[in-house]
Amino acid sequence: MNAFSLEGRTALVTGANTGIGQAIAVALAGAGADVIASGRRDCDETLALMGSGRSLMLDFADPMAARDVFAAERIDILVNNAGIITRGDAVDFTEADWDAVLDVNLKALFFTCQAFARAALPRGMGKIINIASMLSFQGGIRVASYTAAKHGVAGITKLLANEWAAKGLNTNAIAPGYIETNNTAILRADPVRNGAILDRIPAGRWGRPEDIGQTAVFLAAPASDYINGAVLNVDGGWLAR
Ligand code: NAP
Repeated sequence: MNAFSLEGRTALVTGANTGIGQAIAVALAGAGADVIASGRRDCDETLALMGSGRSLMLDFADPMAARDVFAAERIDILVNNAGIITRGDAVDFTEADWDAVLDVNLKALFFTCQAFARAALPRGMGKIINIASMLSFQGGIRVASYTAAKHGVAGITKLLANEWAAKGLNTNAIAPGYIETNNTAILRADPVRNGAILDRIPAGRWGRPEDIGQTAVFLAAPASDYINGAVLNVDGGWLAR
């Protein structure tokens, strides 16, 4: 048996039309999984890159959007990647910005895990990979709701591992460092912020979405069967500084 193969497994990746989610979908497909690329818009580019797979419309503006997905067919691997960020001084932060980010990044993530587990627990196997952040550990600045949500992602990942590890479900998270996607375009466009970020990354470069994709393959594969409740930093060494 190849402990890194995903042959015969079906995976659902949320927010798979672009960025990290797209790279995860492509990497899982490359390892042999049948991938369902879900997004709030079409995932045609991802399907073309994978050369296989299917797409599914899921918009987590309704945090319960995935409630019926896992009863409809067997899905072995769930990657909760969809996420948004809003920036503003804490003193001015609005309730709308708070609720929008908490709904997509934390509430939808939890209830998607729940819907997955209700189908997977009776089978006694399944892999959940939640996308956390450096702001699952650090405070950040001008991103109050994002930091709250991503700390929550780390906590809920550990809670779910405690409840489900003995029942055959692996629940883990990946905490990406600074990765070149739409989410960070505003930081890379600011020469001062960009320089400060690069100065602190021991690897000396921004991360690429593919860096996260291959880590997701590991956490989805039998190779990681004894990893539960981990929040795995993929950050070029950022947190080691
Ligand atoms: P991105 O390019 O902005 O991608 C975010 C994805 O989430 C997109 O597919 C987006 O769809 C989707 N999404 C947003 N709101 C949604 C909704 N209501 N329903 C369904 N999907 C929705 O950013 P990214 O960097 O790849 O982010 C992916 C994940 O990694 C996020 O959870 C983010 O917090 C996390 N992360 C990123 C970094 C980084 O440095 N880039 C670092 C740490 C963590 P649309 O294209 O339609 O907006």
